[in-house]
Amino acid sequence: FPSKLPNVGTTIFSVMSALANQHQAVNLGQGFPDFGCDPKLLDAVAAAMQAGHNQYPPMPGMPQLREAVAAKIAALHGTHYDPHTEITITAGATQAILTAILATVHAGDEVIVLDPCYDSYAPNIELAGGVIVRVPLTPGSFRPDFAKIAAAITPQTRLMIVNTPHNPSATIWTADEMRQLEALLAPTNVLLISDEVYEHMVFDGAQHESAARFPGLAARAFIVSSFGKTYHVTGWKVGTVAAPAALMSEFRKVHQFNVFTVNTPMQVGLATYMHNPAPYLELPAFYQRKRDLFAQGLQQTRLKLLPTTGTYFQCVDISEVTDLNEADFCQWMVQELGVAAIPLSAFYGDGFDQKVVRFCFAKQDATLLAALERLRKL
Ligand code: PMP
Ligand code: GLN
Repeated sequence: FPSKLPNVGTTIFSVMSALANQHQAVNLGQGFPDFGCDPKLLDAVAAAMQAGHNQYPPMPGMPQLREAVAAKIAALHGTHYDPHTEITITAGATQAILTAILATVHAGDEVIVLDPCYDSYAPNIELAGGVIVRVPLTPGSFRPDFAKIAAAITPQTRLMIVNTPHNPSATIWTADEMRQLEALLAPTNVLLISDEVYEHMVFDGAQHESAARFPGLAARAFIVSSFGKTYHVTGWKVGTVAAPAALMSEFRKVHQFNVFTVNTPMQVGLATYMHNPAPYLELPAFYQRKRDLFAQGLQQTRLKLLPTTGTYFQCVDISEVTDLNEADFCQWMVQELGVAAIPLSAFYGDGFDQKVVRFCFAKQDATLLAALERLRKL
């Protein structure tokens, strides 16, 4: 039968992780921590299971977790979301994004994504029958180009997807850029998915500019986050989406027939654990130290570092060390040097190659040092 996704293969993350295992390489490719989470979080989940929280939760998620999420957004961004009607717990950010797209995009609707972008967006739009409209971020700086975005908006534009802090470029949007987006969308009915899974990984004193802070954006936005990133538990696949009630009611129509709901004990444990803000407030310092440790080592090589202001990724320019393209270089590096990275070309619709690859530094110091030892040969 005809494929629904004829151009899709295995994701680059699965491919690189498999190659890393095969070659016993240090895996700085796929983004996930190689260290454990806070034992208090494990205790909270274990206690929830033992207390009998093992049957279906309500469709939109456990009320105490939705309340904790709404309280956190109010405390951090000053925006009130009603936990009953405006917050839903999802199976990771991945499901939140797919569900928001399926709930809003009709066949033939245009959806603007900014290249490079996370690899699930385009196939999700395709599954909804939408038309993917790719607008490049400014080459080199990865800043949004508002003239190009404005030119891409048509009467058929239903949705736009933005991501800050940004995977893969490790840049963050400024308040001024968020305001420019707000002004640009003001005269339109364009909806927004704001992918903020790295919201707590911002460095050098910068602030995460959530769409929740900009009323004209919040009014049209599904704001997506992920406990996997914030609490070092990517395998739990629990995320959140916040949106105005009218948008959320459409989201939930799809959610209830997509996953219906998300596992109960994780939700109960997370609700207990997240009352303490310290773990996420300490995250910038925690990851900034790792960023700096890794960057210092990389400076001993001929790799040229791009600035990392957010996320747990470090991009490097490889043009001084190789004539290979990004994908071939990553293949060579995992086989010959024993270090896995991700080519940025994997995040572009047209495979644009700018000789930049992405490392993940969400790793134990020993792992980073082991990778640096190997990378010193470059
Ligand atoms: N969006 C971005 C930008 C991501 O980097 C990721 C994780 N790789 C996701 C969404 C998916 O998050 P989750 O694991 O919670 O589904
Ligand atoms: N978000 C992770 C990354 O960008 C990968 C998640 C996945 O494997 N799909 O590396």
